[in-house]
Amino acid sequence: MDISLVVPAYNESGNIRQFLHAAQEVLGSTGMSYEIVVVNDGSTDDTLAQLMLLIGGHPELRVIDLSRNFGKEAALTAGMDAATGRAVIPMDADLQHPPKLIPLLIERWQQGFDVVLCRRASRDTDHWLQRWVSRLFYRVHNAVAELDIPPDVGDFRLLDRRVVEALRLLPERRRFMKGIFAWVGFRTTVVEFEADARYSGTSHFSGWRLWNFALEGITSFSTVPLRIWTYVGGVVSLAAIGYATKVVISTIVSGTDLPGYPSLFCAILFLGGVQLIGIGVLGEYIGRIYSEVKQRPIYLVRSRHGFSVDA
Ligand code: UDP
Ligand code: MG
Repeated sequence: MDISLVVPAYNESGNIRQFLHAAQEVLGSTGMSYEIVVVNDGSTDDTLAQLMLLIGGHPELRVIDLSRNFGKEAALTAGMDAATGRAVIPMDADLQHPPKLIPLLIERWQQGFDVVLCRRASRDTDHWLQRWVSRLFYRVHNAVAELDIPPDVGDFRLLDRRVVEALRLLPERRRFMKGIFAWVGFRTTVVEFEADARYSGTSHFSGWRLWNFALEGITSFSTVPLRIWTYVGGVVSLAAIGYATKVVISTIVSGTDLPGYPSLFCAILFLGGVQLIGIGVLGEYIGRIYSEVKQRPIYLVRSRHGFSVDA
């Protein structure tokens, strides 16, 4: 097998048929052998039924039905675990990742690159707030994380088999794919593309979900938020010592006066807030440790279809 497409699909009933059609047309024209691994991530619409209808006439189609909605990152992992191609291309099912780019990815791969990233040339289809927040995220992430993730690069990319095998060595349950992809490294090149609008339906990622995704990213690949509290504590303690010295000296020099009650109140509130934030950050990491030590599987498969050797 030369090429495996890995397609997570969650309630994509309005897109999946068109996507498969477009992908097959492009892949067929490359003259390479290929498979399309669609991972049904617990869809509540008729995505799975549509796939089951299509699978009879399409020997290159494979379907993995997960037992519930595990989220896009887990679905991608499931698909990549099952993919057998010498190169693997994760793609969204909503046609935002144009299949016509695939031949270019293959060309770069054949030139010897292990990873071919697809960077969005512009984000014109996004709301200005979305663009601003995403820029902020990349800036913060790359400032605090041990590894930079390239901005405007999504999960759409080509991965050589060795990269896929390397990815499988990372056992974490909480999978921030952008970070994991960056962590493994390998010879990388970038191509630009114009993301299309969603073919049908709306995005599954709300503002709140994206916020949590951003937290996930930063805490998965950085311990700076944990360590920063040592320095915050140090600065606050130094300021307190300085202030205490001033109080002692002014008491010796000019006797006691009644210290202000408002300033005391502000200091207590401020320090209480700082401590709570520090504890919250600790909690964030402890929560992460908790979900890692439980060693639960990343996803559960309900059924597989279209695989020659059913595991
Ligand atoms: N997706 C998934 N599980 C989820 C949410 C999304 O498998 O819980 C899939 C979805 O079907 C699509 C891809 O992930 O193929 C990207 O989702 P979406 O288009 O909603 O995100 P956006 O393009 O807005 O980032
Ligand atoms: Mg999309």
